[in-house]
Amino acid sequence: MAQYFADIYEAVSSVLKGMRITFKHIYKKPVTLQFPDERQVMPERYRGFVHNDMTKCDSCNICAKLCPVDCIYIESEGKGKARMMTRYAIDYNKCIWCSLCTENCHTGSITMSHDYDHSVYDRRTLVYEFMDPTQETIPCHRATRIDMGWWVEPKEDKPKPKPKPAAEAAPPAETAPAPEAPPPADDKPAPGTPTPDDDKGVEN
Ligand code: SF4
Ligand code: SF4
Repeated sequence: MAQYFADIYEAVSSVLKGMRITFKHIYKKPVTLQFPDERQVMPERYRGFVHNDMTKCDSCNICAKLCPVDCIYIESEGKGKARMMTRYAIDYNKCIWCSLCTENCHTGSITMSHDYDHSVYDRRTLVYEFMDPTQETIPCHRATRIDMGWWVEPKEDKPKPKPKPAAEAAPPAETAPAPEAPPPADDKPAPGTPTPDDDKGVEN
């Protein structure tokens, strides 16, 4: 009988505990989002999927060379002023979000976006093609880009190489402290020669 009432007490107290937590949160602002209709606003420095603004990219290949996992694929045709970019792709399967590409792009075209959701059923679709060569190829040479009306990096914006630090000059010889000269040899008493101090110890 006692067990019967103990079970009833346990059940009622459990329900009340749960309801207390429910009522505590019922008027608070929800922390969940109705994804995908609502999206999280990411912090300013958040590193999302890498994005390239193809109007600025001139196929210099710096990003592809620096990428530690070789997930940037750039292809171009022609040489010199006639060189045209035909492919710029990033394999998001391999990207490690290190940002080496974005920090070294001289045009600032490649950036870490705030995009964090690329849920797909087929991982091959994570190789993202940024351009369609059947629609348009992109001029690489600066002069051609200017002729064709493409964006070019203003020359004054180009980072200038830092001057090499001058080698530290050795201190002039005269400033170096001269080594202490040894006392002249004749100042030293010859072994066995009585000194004035010796006399002090002799009693008359
Ligand atoms: S963030 Fe790093 S791994 Fe990803 S594309 Fe850029 S360099 Fe490559
Ligand atoms: S470093 Fe910048 S400009 Fe050069 S290929 Fe990469 S994205 Fe394009």
